[in-house]
Parts: sequence; structure tokens; C-alpha cells
Amino acid sequence: MLLYLSLGDLSMAIISCPGCGKKVSDKAAVCGECGFMLGAHDVESLARKAQNQRAIKVSKLVSQQMLAILLFIAGIAGTFYDWAQLDGWQFMPQVSMVVTVFSFVWYLVARARIYILKRQR
Ligand SMILES: [Zn+2]
Repeated sequence: MLLYLSLGDLSMAIISCPGCGKKVSDKAAVCGECGFMLGAHDVESLARKAQNQRAIKVSKLVSQQMLAILLFIAGIAGTFYDWAQLDGWQFMPQVSMVVTVFSFVWYLVARARIYILKRQR
């Protein structure tokens, strides 16, 4: 596996991804930008592709999780902030509560999806 990767790097060529048009290595199994499946189709590379795609999905979900946490904190802060002192922002406590609930659910969904993806390995 390591040997394959280092050989791959030596003979690496840059191509445009058919999925998103970004520059990717022609040895990459999966486009790092959009997840488009590139390259060979033997059993080993298919397994590697699946693994790569899972790793990409997990890292996307981890950043979603972080976003959800930030949004949740913002929602809590917004819920308890004294918006009454500002003109035209009376609706903000309600908006903040919706944001808080939404981000909490979002966090749980992302958390569950990471758990499921990691169990498949
Ligand atoms: Zn792409």
C-alpha cells in the first residue's frame, strides 16, 4: 500500500476532475474537492475509493459538527441577549431559539452519521 502510494506520487499527473473541474492527481481514487470517483476499477482500488469517500464524508461531517456547535452557542447567546434595547430586532429572541434548536438537531444528526460511518470500517 505504502509502496503503491509512493510509486503513484512519482508518476503523478495532474488532470481536471470531470466532476468539478478542479486540478487533481490522476492517481487519486476520489476527487478531494467534490468526491467524484476517478481512476481504476479493480477490487483493491474500489475498496480504497470507498475508504477515501468515507474519510471525506467523516471530515465533512466533523466540520458540520463544529459549525453546528458555533451556531448553537450563537443561538443561546441570541436567546438571552437583550434585543429590546435595539429598534427593529424584537423578533431576534424567537429567531435565536429556532437557531438553537436547529443547530442542536443538526449536531445530533452529524454525530450519528459519523458514528455510523466509523462503524462500517
Ligand atoms: Zn472534483
